[in-house]
Amino acid sequence: MSLLPFGVLPPYRKRRFVPENVDWNDWSAIEPLFDRLDAAVAKAASAAELERWLLDWSELSAALDEESGRRYIAMTCHTDNAEAEKAYLHFVEEVDPKLKPRQFALQQAFVKHPQRGDLPRARYEVFNRDTVNSVELFRAENVPLETEETKLGQQYQKLNGSLSVNFRGEEKTLIQMGRFLEETDRATREEAWKLVAERRLKEADTFDAQFDELSKLRGQIAANAGFSNYRDYIFRRLGRFDYTVADCERFHSAVETTVVPLLMELQAEWKQKLGVATLRPWDLNVDALGRPPLKPFADVDELLLRSQKLFNRLDGELAGGFQRMRDLKLLDLANRKGKAPGGYLYPLAEARMAFIFMNAVGLQRDVETLLHEAGHAFHWLAMSEEDLYAYRASPMEFAEVASMSMELLGNEFIEEFYHPADAARARRTHLEGIVSVLAWIATVDAFQHWIYTHPGHTHAERDAAWVAIHQRFGSSLHRDGGGVDWSGFEAARAKLWHRQLHIFLHPFYYIEYGIAQLGALQVWVNSKRDRAQALADYKRALALGNSRPLPQLFAAAGCKFEFSEATVRPLTNMIREELAKMG
Ligand SMILES: [Zn+2]
Repeated sequence: MSLLPFGVLPPYRKRRFVPENVDWNDWSAIEPLFDRLDAAVAKAASAAELERWLLDWSELSAALDEESGRRYIAMTCHTDNAEAEKAYLHFVEEVDPKLKPRQFALQQAFVKHPQRGDLPRARYEVFNRDTVNSVELFRAENVPLETEETKLGQQYQKLNGSLSVNFRGEEKTLIQMGRFLEETDRATREEAWKLVAERRLKEADTFDAQFDELSKLRGQIAANAGFSNYRDYIFRRLGRFDYTVADCERFHSAVETTVVPLLMELQAEWKQKLGVATLRPWDLNVDALGRPPLKPFADVDELLLRSQKLFNRLDGELAGGFQRMRDLKLLDLANRKGKAPGGYLYPLAEARMAFIFMNAVGLQRDVETLLHEAGHAFHWLAMSEEDLYAYRASPMEFAEVASMSMELLGNEFIEEFYHPADAARARRTHLEGIVSVLAWIATVDAFQHWIYTHPGHTHAERDAAWVAIHQRFGSSLHRDGGGVDWSGFEAARAKLWHRQLHIFLHPFYYIEYGIAQLGALQVWVNSKRDRAQALADYKRALALGNSRPLPQLFAAAGCKFEFSEATVRPLTNMIREELAKMG
């Protein structure tokens, strides 16, 4: 497909099971490959034969994954091209639904295979655990319920995306309204914030009803799988073998006792800089000193060049990986007509490379996004030697350590983009963002724990629980000068959780970002002590992919996999000290 920004990328290893020229549009060409895998696993008579079968299966999975990725990339790079859209939709609608049951049948065959117990134990520990889990949790009666759940999620997204307001005579989506919250004129921010809050409140009953349906479905899904509540089910479903509900509660407490006090100090500071008596909900996204946005680069060539220099100074090996991606045109960063919005990283599973998509417009946010996605890309490049497809991946709790660490490590050399004062400003904004986000993650996670362990709650009880949790993690007026004054907007505050897409679409999937941030902060702290050692540990941990359980991935990166105050307090103190140095 010539619609791709990059040229031919040969498979990392020559194919030995998948034919060279498969027509991926044609299910009758794909199906025999699954038939062959079905037959081969039935015949595998030794651990060695079973391992060889796993590699054939890996080869097919990687080829299918890359094909789907190429179509996705072509479509998002050319949203105005009907062919690209058709090719992608064909794969999603015609091929994918046929693949899923075949892939699941292979998992089942593996789980009940007599030679499975003879596979090298340590090597297959994670693969065994994950595959058994997926087979054990499967319930045929949950398939239609999950389809229903997806549909309800789409309805939420549709409603969310359709909301608009009339702002000073112009129709604006709520996303477009976001930038008015960064305006230095306070009256403008207030007007914009109120408009959005009122618009959302008009839909509050609908959002509540959508969520009621979702949580009812989820309760049923859990019951069908033999769990007494959805929280316990989803912990298993998300493969949380290495931490418990109690660990999450320890994270909540640690945020409350260490992060929230720092957030209060920062808010007191913002208040003073802004010169306001109290912080209101519309005062949280503006530069407190009223400065215009930072301008790190003029165009994408400059972004690439300066990023390359930054990586060159950070680490030769990582810089080499970035250079290779540039040479292969695996970075499409410019914002242009016909490109889908946003940014993403897509792994190319067969070439064992990665592609970065962005819509850079010249903001500091773009630099942060590129550092973040580059961290993910370095992860994929680091695992390329791994032949088991399932191990060329990473649990989310660690995948984001790769990317968030790169934001922090890269920021150490952000002078490649700025003179010293602006560099300090960029670093300060980033660290302040981490503090706010940790508090928000604890809020969203604690609320979901409440929801799914209080079946039959009323809307009033749910709102009250949200407000109490929101307050606990610092989002209200505190005696010591920080905090936000919500008076007059109690109704909007009680429904604030309606804005958090994950609560509707990806239940419980959120604390992963908090866990990963603790890992990234530890990598950063280590790098302050000994940068070469911290980077060596980071790269070694990345290379492990998904082959070891989380505590071992964290340990390899030089981090503790532990979320209590003992871990969080020193990290919070480090952020406080760094901020103090910046003045
Ligand atoms: Zn990420």
